[in-house]
Amino acid sequence: MPFQFFGTSGAMSSPERDNTALAFYSKDEVVLVDCSGSPYQKILKAGLDPTRVTSLIVTHRHVDHVYGIPSLAHNMGLAGRRAAVHVYALSETMKVLRGFMGLFPLEEKMPYRIELHEVPPKEGHDVLRAKGFRILSTPVKHGAPNIGLRVEFDSPGERGAVVYSGDTSPCPSLIALARGADVLIHEATFLHDEVVRAAADGHTTGYQVGEVASQAGVKRLILCHFSASLHGREDELRREAVHSFTGPVELAEELREYRV
Ligand SMILES: [Zn+2]
Ligand SMILES: [Zn+2]
Repeated sequence: MPFQFFGTSGAMSSPERDNTALAFYSKDEVVLVDCSGSPYQKILKAGLDPTRVTSLIVTHRHVDHVYGIPSLAHNMGLAGRRAAVHVYALSETMKVLRGFMGLFPLEEKMPYRIELHEVPPKEGHDVLRAKGFRILSTPVKHGAPNIGLRVEFDSPGERGAVVYSGDTSPCPSLIALARGADVLIHEATFLHDEVVRAAADGHTTGYQVGEVASQAGVKRLILCHFSASLHGREDELRREAVHSFTGPVELAEELREYRV
């Protein structure tokens, strides 16, 4: 199942990298994960059809993961969308989403509905099932309640699992979720010399992300959510990760199609 990064940075964007957000897609539908930047433009730049976007999963309430939502909702309405958009999030995150809907009259003039689905903070929760794939969530360890996601797909010629960590410190629940995955997309916000700050902020260092990938037994590791202070020096994160993980380690590139 192909996926693309709409952004790969931490909380600060830079000329090179936008805030972390992703799109997973099958032949029939697109599932967005987090919503930053100019999301409608990113969908178009990625070569995806906005009418195929069925769902948005919001991992947590931090600004860099949610601020694009009003714009996405507005643009979809202006484009004449009729089908409902399903939004999945933890109850804490949902408060922010309801706040957006109070702040902007998103649905009043829109020809479609936004349907909110609350995700319980439960390990291995079945968030959604669609033709050819399903998505599971698990709570991870961050400054706000947050979830990691496992996308499992099984369609002719394609079978596997991709896991996205969300923002997190290394944690057993994410390692369990990632067990044996073909690809682990994991945040690597800081280098290991900032391990104390990483722990305080609920993030992972380059060195730690290699350990997580190795403990989870994944086949391939893709790093993202890089602190803006490391843009241009991301290879240092990769070099830390390969200390403890022997599989391939890549630095996420924006608007490039990845396949398992
Ligand atoms: Zn973040
Ligand atoms: Zn965060």
